[in-house]
Amino acid sequence: MESRYNPTAIEEKWQKTWAEQGIDLTPTETDKPKFYALSMFPYPSGNLHMGHVRNYTITDAIARVHRMQGDRVLHPMGWDAFGLPAENAAIKNQTHPAKWTYNNIAQMRSELKRLGLSYDWNCELATCSPDYYKWTQWIFLQFFQAGLAYQKEAAVNWDPIDQTVLANEQVDSEGRSWRSGAIVEKKNLRQWFLKITDYAEELLKDLDKLTGWPERVKLMQANWIGKSVGAYLEFPIVGMDEKIGVFTTRPDTVYGVTYVVLAPEHPLTPKVTTSERQEAVETFIKEVANQSELERTAEDKPKRGIPTGGKAINPFTGEEIPIWIADYVLFEYGTGAVMGVPAHDTRDFKFANEQNLPIKVVITPPNPPVHGGGQEKQNSLPAGGEGWGGVPLTEAYTDPGIMVNSGDFNGKNSTEGKQAIIEYAEQKGFGKARVQYRLRDWLISRQRYWGAPIPVIHCPNCGIVPVPDRDLPVQLPENVEFTGRGASPLAQLESWVNVPCPSCGTPAKRETDTMDTFIDSSWYYLRFCDAQNDGKVFDSAKTNDWMPVDQYVGGIEHAILHLLYSRFFTKVLRDRGLLNFDEPFQRLLTQGMVQGLTYTNPNKSGNAKYIPSNLVNPNDPKDPETGEPLEISYQTMSKSKYNGVAPEQVINKYGADTARMFILFKAPPEKDLEWDEADVEGQFRFLNRVWRLVGDFASNQSSAKLDQSKIQNPKSKIEKDLRRAIHTAIKEITDDLGSDYQFNTAISELMKLSNALTDTDSKNSAIYTEGIHTLILMLAPFAPHIAEELWQMIGNSESVHKASWPKCDSAALVADEITLVIQINGKTRGTIEVANTSDKNTLEKYARESEAAQRYLEGKEIKKAIVVPGRNLVNFVVG
Ligand SMILES: [Zn+2]
Repeated sequence: MESRYNPTAIEEKWQKTWAEQGIDLTPTETDKPKFYALSMFPYPSGNLHMGHVRNYTITDAIARVHRMQGDRVLHPMGWDAFGLPAENAAIKNQTHPAKWTYNNIAQMRSELKRLGLSYDWNCELATCSPDYYKWTQWIFLQFFQAGLAYQKEAAVNWDPIDQTVLANEQVDSEGRSWRSGAIVEKKNLRQWFLKITDYAEELLKDLDKLTGWPERVKLMQANWIGKSVGAYLEFPIVGMDEKIGVFTTRPDTVYGVTYVVLAPEHPLTPKVTTSERQEAVETFIKEVANQSELERTAEDKPKRGIPTGGKAINPFTGEEIPIWIADYVLFEYGTGAVMGVPAHDTRDFKFANEQNLPIKVVITPPNPPVHGGGQEKQNSLPAGGEGWGGVPLTEAYTDPGIMVNSGDFNGKNSTEGKQAIIEYAEQKGFGKARVQYRLRDWLISRQRYWGAPIPVIHCPNCGIVPVPDRDLPVQLPENVEFTGRGASPLAQLESWVNVPCPSCGTPAKRETDTMDTFIDSSWYYLRFCDAQNDGKVFDSAKTNDWMPVDQYVGGIEHAILHLLYSRFFTKVLRDRGLLNFDEPFQRLLTQGMVQGLTYTNPNKSGNAKYIPSNLVNPNDPKDPETGEPLEISYQTMSKSKYNGVAPEQVINKYGADTARMFILFKAPPEKDLEWDEADVEGQFRFLNRVWRLVGDFASNQSSAKLDQSKIQNPKSKIEKDLRRAIHTAIKEITDDLGSDYQFNTAISELMKLSNALTDTDSKNSAIYTEGIHTLILMLAPFAPHIAEELWQMIGNSESVHKASWPKCDSAALVADEITLVIQINGKTRGTIEVANTSDKNTLEKYARESEAAQRYLEGKEIKKAIVVPGRNLVNFVVG
């Protein structure tokens, strides 16, 4: 036996042995319940950071617990390997993106292996590998065949110096190109879209099925989908046959419309513009064209707009109202036009005030305030709701109320009025009920190299022709130049672009756009179920068996896009007959951030305010340059804040088991975790204590065998107490891991058990042996290497990770004695140890005989004795 705990030697030895024995391979038998544990797969950026380590440790502990509890577990890992950084690195360093990516994968894989994560590496996949993206392309064609992939014009970021399209990430906060520094322009190109809007209602409705998801994530998704129920109304244009269609959630305010606004890009804009306004309108359109959507719609920015000179008619009142254009109306949203109701919409109110447009009150509060009284909000309304002639509004009145100045609808409750207005509009033929979603179709085209090529061919005769299945994958050519200038690298390669049409043989051209990398990650969890299938995207029987993922673990930053796109893909593939379930992820855990000790100089700004910790004396933190005192805080680890801790460094010093224990112990998984070296040390010391405890047991010649009959019949109070401690730990830890994965409290219980074993005077008993076994078994999911070493040390030959999770013997939890609290008139006067019983009379008898009762009750009359058996309490009420 080794006398000292040497994590490095143990961890390397077991990682090698486990790999040789294949103990982490996915079981093929199907007679056990399945459990699919999945971490969000990483982008191979170069090195693991602590956020990765936390994510993967949590999922690994979950996978290991479920294996020991008798489930067959799928626990895979792969690489989200396409994307911009590889291409940027290629442009900067003239290395091929594939080389950069695979080097990083190799580096990160070896770091993952050092953490002792129980992955089935036979399932490993990389989305940039042709045997993966072949199926990404095949899935794209499934969407295409279902009418869910289409092309239309959309704006891209255009660098006028390098003559190239830029990704959003390549444009800085000032709107300049990352490479040339040019101010980026908007340019319209034909782009590919996926029709996620067809699934908007189901994506919203099925959030109710996701009972294992955090409410916050579901709310974010619901807001992103943004369903609103309202009306579509049409405003005729004066002097033209055409009408302006608008969507509104407040049809009850339609009598208060004093103008309509078109998006500058709206096709009606040039038509309604009068000749006097033409020059001003064209100038305005050009200015808006170079603004981002965010700039145009930001809450805090002033809204800009100008009149077109054209007029529309409010079909309800017959009034002529001006047609404006404004930057905050986007053509891609809704109808690209809105009606202006300044009295009852905050944004319209602001705009109308700035532009001197009329404001007309058509809703008043349900109980009109008496002049000078009432609530603050109501004071902003003219008395009696008589509207525009009276006191001017100071803010929009957006609540429901009573309709006024609304013709036949006057006096109606505005909530009921909505329906009445819609019915009226339907009768008259100028409107109807409509549901609208904020969600828009997904733009998937990228004018970049390092992504899956969109597998279609443009033929002058046949139009868009899908690449036949037999010709998949459409491979990325390797002999490509990366300059960051001009057309996308694929478009520059004539020999790759020019191909005969698969349908008619005419010379045709390949699509040169590649797919958004979010597509690759929208289906990888399906491929893991049958990762090596080279004849099919996956065998539906296998995927239907493993799916849905039972526990998905990843960062909150993926709360919207990745999870929404994955849900969308699952539903489409279900509708294509490939899957038999509706939702991909049964339970979702969004782990908290890892925060590091951060030194900042409050007198400096930007990144300069962060001071690297190696330049700071922790006992007297001062800016090494200026001598100013520094502020200390915990902030999410990042390179720019110099507050990161490298996983490698921790593993080298303490071993992976200590790192894992610290991460699981320091905070509940969904909460932020503060990296604290002293607490890391604490976990290392705990593992050392366990090491010595088990070492002493293994070398003790008198240690008992694990004898069931002796375990179940403890001979003494000491043995009984020890067994109760063991089975209390089993119960508590099993409960903590049951649904919410409260590893922090589970590890606390493990420490209690270790203390009970250390302190007991019954070290040669069979029950002590049971305790040692139990401690190692329950340590195994958290600290897999040391648990395996200790398990072998006490004479087992099979892996601890193949062993069964200990079961709680509820008989062992019953205590022989309980502590009974004696109260007089509700005041605690003492406690006594009595035999465990729930018999009220017996408890009362013990209490009466107690010294406390004798003393305090002397000479007094007991009016009543209240006995609460469950709380082990007797209260005497005396006069
Ligand atoms: Zn053709």
